[in-house]
Amino acid sequence: MARVLIVGAGLTGSLCAALLRRALARRPLQIAVWEKARGAGGRMSTSRSAHDPRCTADLGAQYITREPEYAQKHQSFYEELLSHGVLKPLTAKIEGMAIKEGVENFVTPQGISSIVKHYLNESGAEIFFEHPVTRICLKDGKWEVCSNTGFMDQFDVVVLTIPVPQILQLQGDVANIINRSQRQQLESVSYSSRYALGLFYEAGTQIDVPWAAQYISSNPCIRFISIDNKKRNIESPDIGPSVVVHTSVPFGIEHLEWDIEKVQPLILEHLKDIMPVLPEPASVKCQKWRYSQVTKAFLGSPGQITLNMQPFLVCGGDGFIHSNFDGCIESAMSIVATLKSSL
Ligand code: FAD
Repeated sequence: MARVLIVGAGLTGSLCAALLRRALARRPLQIAVWEKARGAGGRMSTSRSAHDPRCTADLGAQYITREPEYAQKHQSFYEELLSHGVLKPLTAKIEGMAIKEGVENFVTPQGISSIVKHYLNESGAEIFFEHPVTRICLKDGKWEVCSNTGFMDQFDVVVLTIPVPQILQLQGDVANIINRSQRQQLESVSYSSRYALGLFYEAGTQIDVPWAAQYISSNPCIRFISIDNKKRNIESPDIGPSVVVHTSVPFGIEHLEWDIEKVQPLILEHLKDIMPVLPEPASVKCQKWRYSQVTKAFLGSPGQITLNMQPFLVCGGDGFIHSNFDGCIESAMSIVATLKSSL
């Protein structure tokens, strides 16, 4: 029984798990996913209000954009998610959104993390939350993987789907197997940074604006605002609305090392300038995206790179291609193609 560990329960990790299970359905294979956070999603996360878990907001990715060049190649992925009701065409009004020919947009009625959860369910993998991998060492021809919570286990194959700077922070033999040129390439991968705010409201609160989301170009802090439930087309009298705010990248970079508690009121002040009559929320969540979207991918955008053959260790994710749904599909498909030959 080959034991595979996937590090990270974001879109790339969950897709890898599902595709690997389907590709090797007849072979004895144990797949485990270790995730440092308390839930699945990564940058496709959906947060719940503290006062009503049915009131949710997507703090990272907002919608899925199908570019014409991937429409055919990834058709089966879109069909699967549409047929399960995970994706629905975007019909709400997004002000300031660039309209490109042949491009289609989709929303997720149950929140963007439902995509990741769908693939995790399909994979049959064992998922371990609050398992941040800190050290990976060679032991008796296998990988011995440790988390900083004292958890340790051995695997035949390890797949890293975490942002590239976090790969470079891992300790143990994994740090030594990265050769000089790979390290240089990995160090050159870069990401933008920004903050996101989720505002959660009591049921019955009215937010009277003629749009579901809006790109802002005239504010030094805020780049995007979404009435999240309206964007996802789920307006219900029993569940309060939610608002998502994304800051601009320059604001994110300028305040990157600030405490979240100090940044949150700054963003709220700017929000008041843009939407002076916005009601008081019941609760607010502020999220720092240190690694938001890839600004420079790994040279050649290979989707994945193999760091070690025996035992196998491969890394992928949007850092190896580009930051969106199609990029993560490409990365996961190339990881699985590489793994199939080694398992
Ligand atoms: P991640 O989602 O980052 O997953 C990696 C996972 O690894 C995370 O869950 C993390 O907690 C975990 N992890 C990290 N270190 C460790 C460790 N040491 N041990 C264990 N686990 C670890 N894409 C779109 O398609 N449409 C959009 O509209 C869109 N908008 C975006 C807006 C924002 C603000 C952001 C931040 C991203 C947006 N994106 C969008 C990009 C998209 O979210 C990402 O490209 C995609 O989610 C990346 O998935 P991933 O699995 O490669 O990485």
